[in-house]
Amino acid sequence: VFVAFEGGEGSGKSTQTRLLAGWLTEHGRSVEVTREPGGTAVGQQLRRILLDPATGELSPRTEALVYIADKAEHVDHVVLPALAEGKVVVTDRYVDSTLAYQGAGRALRAAELEPIARWATSGLRPHLTIVLDIDPSVGLGRAGSPDRIESEPLEFHQRVRQHFLELAGADPAHYVVLPADQDPEAVHIAVQQAIAPWLSQ
Ligand code: C5P
Repeated sequence: VFVAFEGGEGSGKSTQTRLLAGWLTEHGRSVEVTREPGGTAVGQQLRRILLDPATGELSPRTEALVYIADKAEHVDHVVLPALAEGKVVVTDRYVDSTLAYQGAGRALRAAELEPIARWATSGLRPHLTIVLDIDPSVGLGRAGSPDRIESEPLEFHQRVRQHFLELAGADPAHYVVLPADQDPEAVHIAVQQAIAPWLSQ
């Protein structure tokens, strides 16, 4: 089973990823917890380039390709091997982040961007994507010192949020949207309920 958490800054993805992994382990499942960007050794280096404010401005196509390179590495060396071993893979961000940030955020054309991201990930889609939804004006306030992307204006982050909601709205069988501006334990319970049907398959 392949599960992705998506959402804006300060939406609590890492907390929920951790809580879900703990819950799955307690229930006897073997779990691989991972993230994008940075789920591999090469990915860590790409993450540094992408997020260091010292990188400055990148051409939007360069930025998209670096995020997508991280994905190819991640899928080939972490996600697919773990799924082949029968593990539940829980990733903090996946392809939808690229569609939202580089697509809607940077205004690259989705029709051009999506096939490249799908090619890089061998067309592998999560069984379930959990969108943790939060108003960016609240979420950005929760984040620490801003990385290169968090420094983008509020409108950028609003486009990103909107895009996550559109992706979820278009495919309700594979998405759930959870309001993230609430107690993490309450969000975690909702996550358990969303994933349960997939675990019994
Ligand atoms: O979720 P996390 O903090 O690890 O994300 C790292 C940064 O990369 C965030 O600022 C996020 O907005 C940005 N990001 C992005 N495009 C992606 C994935 C993440 O701009 N495809």
